Amino acid sequence: MAGEPQADCLFCKIAAGEVPATVVRESETTVAFRDINPQAPTHVLVIPKAHYPDAASLSAAEPGIAADVLREAGEVAAGEQVDGNGYRIVFNTGAGAGQTVFHAHAHVLGGRGLQWPPG
Ligand code: C5P
Repeated sequence: MAGEPQADCLFCKIAAGEVPATVVRESETTVAFRDINPQAPTHVLVIPKAHYPDAASLSAAEPGIAADVLREAGEVAAGEQVDGNGYRIVFNTGAGAGQTVFHAHAHVLGGRGLQWPPG
């Protein structure tokens, strides 16, 4: 059923505490943890606890939780003190855009200059 944990999903396991992660924030509906392969001094992932494969399916089914993810991303940036110099919130969507984990997640990147357009 939509939103239910998936047995083969790494981020469902992180959300459930079954796979370790360096958690920086948690809310009723979201978890934020440090990316294991950071691409910037601050690189934190914000995930919904509910399983949706990408940001579009999450926002279509659960717009309130999608808003929670965005709010938490902003709180991460403020907590990491990268909000003053600018930061980026990225939702890679689809393999062609670099998505490798098919559980919706926002990348929060900051702490260095960020180029545009991204690669
Ligand atoms: O957008 P994409 O799906 O590629 O992002 C997945 C992210 O999850 C990667 O940046 C990867 O480093 C991260 N990851 C992680 N912990 C894991 C597995 C992947 O932080 N155990």
